[in-house]
Amino acid sequence: MSEVSVNRRGEERVRLGHVWIYRSDVVKADAQPGDIARVAGSRGRVLGHAMYSNRSEIALRLLTRGQREPDLDTWRGRIRRAVAYRDALGIDATAFRLIHGEADLLPSLVVDRYGDYLVVQTLSQGTDRMLPEIARLLVEAVNPLGILARNDPRVRALEGLEQRVEVVYGTVPASIPVRDGRVMYDVDPYKGQKTGLFLDQRENRLAAAGYARGRLLDAFSYQGGFALTMAPRCDEVLAVDISEEAVARIRENAARNGLTRIEARAMNVFDELRELERRGERFDTIVLDPPAFAKSKSSLPKALAGYKEINLRALKILQPGGFLITCTCSYHVSEAEFAEVIASAAIDAHADLAVVEKRMQSRDHPVLMTVPETYYLKCFIVRKLA
Ligand code: SAH
Repeated sequence: MSEVSVNRRGEERVRLGHVWIYRSDVVKADAQPGDIARVAGSRGRVLGHAMYSNRSEIALRLLTRGQREPDLDTWRGRIRRAVAYRDALGIDATAFRLIHGEADLLPSLVVDRYGDYLVVQTLSQGTDRMLPEIARLLVEAVNPLGILARNDPRVRALEGLEQRVEVVYGTVPASIPVRDGRVMYDVDPYKGQKTGLFLDQRENRLAAAGYARGRLLDAFSYQGGFALTMAPRCDEVLAVDISEEAVARIRENAARNGLTRIEARAMNVFDELRELERRGERFDTIVLDPPAFAKSKSSLPKALAGYKEINLRALKILQPGGFLITCTCSYHVSEAEFAEVIASAAIDAHADLAVVEKRMQSRDHPVLMTVPETYYLKCFIVRKLA
């Protein structure tokens, strides 16, 4: 069997419950790309078994701890438990995440369900090599009509893997009708962002709807997730996204759901917020759901400045008594740092804010307690006091 030896720091990470070991903590690798290797600590002690990558900074992704070697039954059991957990959640939607990588003890594997179809992403050399077996186990566990491997995320480049979108089982249509609560969408699993929809915000959209009223601004709206969920409780909705395709979809989705008071604009939110402020426009409810501004640790200061700017401008055009639903999906931005950004925006906007809810990604995207990187989405719901 392949074997990789790690130093004291790598050993300590395993002891503290992390499942990643960095290249800098590997002392000797006797393994091929994508192998499942025995991980040895100091004095040759077996720490566990992990998928090995010869390219990524994350050299090892732990599958099992201790002597026990993972086999096909290990994968089968984890896939089944992940599926059973989602079943138990009683999700009122036909689109949700079935497997959330590390948090289901299946590092670098993502599986989303869209109705009768599955979309999978194998994001490391290890899971990529396992794709045929994973597809078979998924068919065993959920019997879908088709499985699409949506393997075009840029992170695959860090693994030396190519960008590839291919059907690996059955057939998968270019448009899948799904229901999310009371909202119907047509999802394009081949070309939509991520695997088609932003499933991680599902519960936050429902929570946000509880505060929605009056005039709503949904900034960074993609296909209108927040706008469509909240519109029935609002008089008027403005949705803004930079992508023309997303905006076209919002209009289609609004019509499909019989929602007539939604206006969608293809604009840069930074410019649009400035323009709305200049024109003296006001909103009763505002959603800010930008893409991850901090893609790496080094871009953090610039990202925090970006978050501050949009939160500041939003608070200026929010009516007293109104609600701001503000999110970050950068795992480099901690909850505390994000809270600081919002507080500092409030000070500059001369707004007194009450925090009403602190939320995270939906429960089908759980956080692995000992892997802080899996807590990426933070969502604050705040009320601007009169
Ligand atoms: N709120 C959405 C998900 C938003 S994802 C939902 O619930 O489904 C972030 C979106 O921001 C993407 O659709 C992307 O096209 C858009 N975007 C990125 N930069 C932008 C900018 N500067 N101005 C407007 N939209 C932007």
